[in-house]
Amino acid sequence: MSTKINVLVVEDEKNIGNFISTTLKNNHYKVIECQTGSEALSITSSHCPDVILLDLGLPDLDGLTVLKSIRNWSSVPIIIISARTQEHEKVEALDLGADDYITKPFGTSELLARIRTALRHSTKRSPNHIFTAKGLVIDFDGRLIHVMDKEVHLTQIEFKLISLLAQNAGKVLTYDFMITSIWGPYADKNNQILRVNMANIRRKIEQNPGDPKYIFTEVGVGYRMIEEDSSL
Ligand code: CA
Repeated sequence: MSTKINVLVVEDEKNIGNFISTTLKNNHYKVIECQTGSEALSITSSHCPDVILLDLGLPDLDGLTVLKSIRNWSSVPIIIISARTQEHEKVEALDLGADDYITKPFGTSELLARIRTALRHSTKRSPNHIFTAKGLVIDFDGRLIHVMDKEVHLTQIEFKLISLLAQNAGKVLTYDFMITSIWGPYADKNNQILRVNMANIRRKIEQNPGDPKYIFTEVGVGYRMIEEDSSL
């Protein structure tokens, strides 16, 4: 038997905390619960959880402070639990190093999927990896892209963008993160060029760009690439 995966749940709303714990325990995760930011920090260092679910609105420290403090010394996957009213904090959390977010109210399958994705990203990929998802094949080394066995020609920037998304498949990437990764830290944080490039990529790879199956828009946040076929 393999050791159980250890999840720290930081949530002060009892019913949500209970829902998460029950769901995780039923799916063979080990759960540690706490309700405050200071407990979250001490448990993270004493128990070294494999993944942390972190509510943004906590009674003592706010979730962003907890996140920043953990990121100073740990790369443990952190999934933010946010309320609909915390759109801005959600983006800030991703830019501060959160791996993903989940918006209340959420269901069991969404919760479990987010955790699986976050865990997968904490294990490194081989550099000559070939990405495959529902007929989309990206050969990073060969700089080749095929959709349903047909070669697709992308510009250099478009190839960099799709590679960035594919290397983080399943994870939402913020506009700022993408702009900085492709155009550098001094690039204008105007989303227009990014949007134009993303529209061009969709036009080339999606059968129906208005109803994409490979790259999804997270409104007000950024983009998310579909998970790979050979997932857990
Ligand atoms: Ca809360």
